[in-house]
Amino acid sequence: MSKSIQQILEQDSLTKENIIQLLQSSGDDEKALFAKSSEIKLKYIGKNVYFRGLVEFSNICKKDCLYCGIRAGNKNVDRYDIADEEILKAAKFAYDNNYGSVVLQSGERSDKQFVDRIENLLKEIKKLSNNELGITISLGEQTKETYQRWYDAGAHRYLLRIESSNRELYEKIHPQNENHAHDTRLACLKSLQDIGYQTGTGVMVGIPFQTYEDLANDLLFMKEFDIDMVGMGPFIEHDETPLYEHRDKLMSLNDRFRLTLRMIAVLRILMKDINIASATALQAIDPLGREKALRIGANIIMPNITPTQERANYLLYQNKPCIDEGADDCTNCMEARINMADGEIGYGQWGDSKHYANRT
Ligand code: SAM
Ligand code: SF4
Repeated sequence: MSKSIQQILEQDSLTKENIIQLLQSSGDDEKALFAKSSEIKLKYIGKNVYFRGLVEFSNICKKDCLYCGIRAGNKNVDRYDIADEEILKAAKFAYDNNYGSVVLQSGERSDKQFVDRIENLLKEIKKLSNNELGITISLGEQTKETYQRWYDAGAHRYLLRIESSNRELYEKIHPQNENHAHDTRLACLKSLQDIGYQTGTGVMVGIPFQTYEDLANDLLFMKEFDIDMVGMGPFIEHDETPLYEHRDKLMSLNDRFRLTLRMIAVLRILMKDINIASATALQAIDPLGREKALRIGANIIMPNITPTQERANYLLYQNKPCIDEGADDCTNCMEARINMADGEIGYGQWGDSKHYANRT
């Protein structure tokens, strides 16, 4: 006979079967799960929510991930690459507004010019903020040497989602060639950790062909890999991507949303001291999506500070929120949202992963 959710929540550790049961919970069981995860969050992390000002500075990408709206093969995208001065202006905005940290994210490129440029930008951001802004980067798969150069230039956190820890599923959602190999992704995560980055990963929740067992394995993978931070969001289909043809296999958007919340809750129970981001994709489904995630376990939010005119072109999925608001609007709405979720903004602080401090 399977255990009740209450019994599982009282255990000191969770088996894969327990995790699957928690991920499938609904009604009062789901409420009990969320109550437990928010209690753990308050105990180990506290009320503070940390800002990461997000600059999506370019949608130029050499890769062709089958789920992503800005994949190289999508010829209907207006490609942009924000000038360095604009990126630095956005970083200055984050610094002046006490954000504590910025995230630089873009499509994947690894030509020499790009690598040099990022190195220079990182140094400039450190300079303009008197070394005070924390910098996370999310620029895909690179060589260990490149990761090291960017680390030496001032980046100290890196986000690279594993997308799925199941190799077969990973292969189904990527083209079959050496540029999209699961092994490379794993090796990159290992290099980042070896160099000393606070290493972040994550998955999309609700992709076609994905099972509850896959998701349970994803959470166990994060624990085994001793990851410091996680960003997980619901998969949202884009009609100009190859994966769109499998939309009949998708659960409803609302179900993907609820399942993402349960993934965050179980992860908080499994990894009590890591940083968990409340992903923008949650807000694309539910206008209050991000604060719901903050209540049940997340502690990081990434206000979009990309210059407004380019936001509409960074469309990974459809109905992306906040594409026509300026950075100020975003800060204000974010502050109200965090207060509603009973959180307090950790202004001016890096808000580093406690897990990183504990493991190093
Ligand atoms: N190019 C870098 C990379 O792939 O790591 C950074 C930018 S990429 C757009 C950031 C994340 O967006 C990916 O890791 C993926 O999980 C997510 N993403 C892409 N397409 C998506 C979609 N259709 N729905 C939800 N998330 C998506
Ligand atoms: Fe490029 Fe990242 Fe999109 Fe893949 S997920 S196509 S690497 S931007």
